[in-house]
Amino acid sequence: MFPLLPLGIGSMKTQTSSQSTYSKFIEQVKSEEVQQVTIKPDRIEYILKPEFGSQRYYTDPSGQKGDITSLLQSHNVEIITLNDSSANTAGIIGLLLSSGILVGAFAWLLKFSNAGGGVGIGMKMGKSNARVYNRGKIGTTFLDVAGADEAKRELQEVVDFLSNGEKYRKIGAKIPKGILLVGSPGTGKTLLAKAVAGEAGVPFLSMSGSEFVEVFVGVGASRVRDLFNQAKRQAPCIIFIDELDAIGKTRGNNVVGGNDEREQTLNQLLTEMDGFDGNNGVIVIAATNRPEILDPALIRPGRFDRQVLVDRPDKSGRLEILLVHTRSVILSEDVNLEVIAAQTPGFVGADLANLVNEAALMAARNNHQAVLMADFKEAIERVIAGLEKRSRILTPQERQTVAYHEVGHSLVGALMPGGSKVSKISIVPRGVGALGYTLQMPEEDRFLLLEDELRGQLATLLGGRAAEETILGKVSSGASDDIQKATDLAERAVTQYGMSNTLGPIAFEKNSAQFLQGSSSRRSISAEVAVEIDRQVKQNIDLAHDMALKILELNRGLLESTTQALLEKEVLEGDELQRILSQVQAPISLNNWLMKG
Ligand code: ADP
Repeated sequence: MFPLLPLGIGSMKTQTSSQSTYSKFIEQVKSEEVQQVTIKPDRIEYILKPEFGSQRYYTDPSGQKGDITSLLQSHNVEIITLNDSSANTAGIIGLLLSSGILVGAFAWLLKFSNAGGGVGIGMKMGKSNARVYNRGKIGTTFLDVAGADEAKRELQEVVDFLSNGEKYRKIGAKIPKGILLVGSPGTGKTLLAKAVAGEAGVPFLSMSGSEFVEVFVGVGASRVRDLFNQAKRQAPCIIFIDELDAIGKTRGNNVVGGNDEREQTLNQLLTEMDGFDGNNGVIVIAATNRPEILDPALIRPGRFDRQVLVDRPDKSGRLEILLVHTRSVILSEDVNLEVIAAQTPGFVGADLANLVNEAALMAARNNHQAVLMADFKEAIERVIAGLEKRSRILTPQERQTVAYHEVGHSLVGALMPGGSKVSKISIVPRGVGALGYTLQMPEEDRFLLLEDELRGQLATLLGGRAAEETILGKVSSGASDDIQKATDLAERAVTQYGMSNTLGPIAFEKNSAQFLQGSSSRRSISAEVAVEIDRQVKQNIDLAHDMALKILELNRGLLESTTQALLEKEVLEGDELQRILSQVQAPISLNNWLMKG
């Protein structure tokens, strides 16, 4: 079985290469002809740059003194070092044996080793497979990261450590080893880490936490080792570990108990972080959106002791991000990025980048010479509600139901507080499930939800169902998403926001993820409290439902005429819609209900 293992890794082995002398090799490096070098214990293999014919050579370094790494680095040569590969693999085999899963797994491994055309998967397992961006090739700087001013300020210091390390070492200061970027997905954590490397002009070794861990025990740990070895050879440099939580979860609460693959990987990471000195110029930047589940050992001083929050952008941040991403896009004069920034609260950098691209695609598809404001509007709806599906055929009765439903939402929504304006009603199906939709655009960023606004949202959500009841006398399944959202909101009001008079300001849910929505768990509560929570949730929903019915009853004429207009035009927006919405009358009891429930 073993003879298979020492087969070569990497791209070089399979191609023919010619012998060269060591001095010729050094000469070629110095004259910038060499693209990539693979250093093995017994020989050096190298490839010339395409402009020099991409020829492959090997040479024997024995008897030569000194380390050529710095020479190679100074000439921007890509370096692959394979001195420990067979040792690693032997280590894996040993672990596999001891773990008792060898028989099946090893046969599988050999199968792939054979199939790989000489590049054994067994050989690659212990290597880190990190994506390496060499010095000068990163091209990302802080100018590409918009809006994250505080994070940038903190990271500016890291840039200084990397580029002027001597200044800190001289005075006896210890450079931090690890920085943890914390924030929601898509807020630009990877981008920031890359920009730090770009600003400091150092190599960037990037790997995702999930890439360390495989089914085989021990692979993750050896990948961590390999990554750090690779980094030490290239110092000063940055190691970037995305999704740190994939390996850094708190230990000790799993069934296997203390010895599974992830724990070994984590232990290795901790050991490596202890074993190197930040002053050598290797800085580890990791990103996570689940800081609360990280093992405390990871965040103690000397490891990831600095945490930098990368927050969702506010309106001015969104504007800056839009400016960055529209740099290379031809915009029509009517495009107002400020308005777009105002209409996209909650969007993170990745969403905005996607939005700009969607708008540009839309403009190109419609053969526009530049991207129009209308393209952006359409793109926002597309991102929020999905693609238009004009081809989806509804029966006349279904269309009518959808139209009453959407007009119901908008008439109720028009009376509610909260600074969101109903800006469009449409019965053109969109996305996976929406047969029609009502778009409410916020006029400004909001960070708090007041009690009356929460009630207003409940009533608006239930306005669709209430319209079906008022006019058609029977309900459809179309309101299921609204009901889901309304119930969630009503429950959060009671169990998380402490907005119940009888239960008081007690949190009955534990919010377990700061940056991911929808993950919370119930505290242990008594049966009576559970009953009371259910009663309160039901009461909140019932009252909001009653109010929606009352509003539509009072505005029955308007509901009918607006629905007819919508059935004719399919879409109502702009001044026409605002004129209709300004006619909605409020029941006398509305204010009292909004204030007191
Ligand atoms: P994360 O690592 O936080 O999930 P990324 O860094 O991968 O997010 O961001 C994905 C993309 O979103 C980036 O490549 C970039 O195009 C865009 N982006 C995110 N944040 C910003 C920002 N602050 N400025 C400019 N672009 C951003």
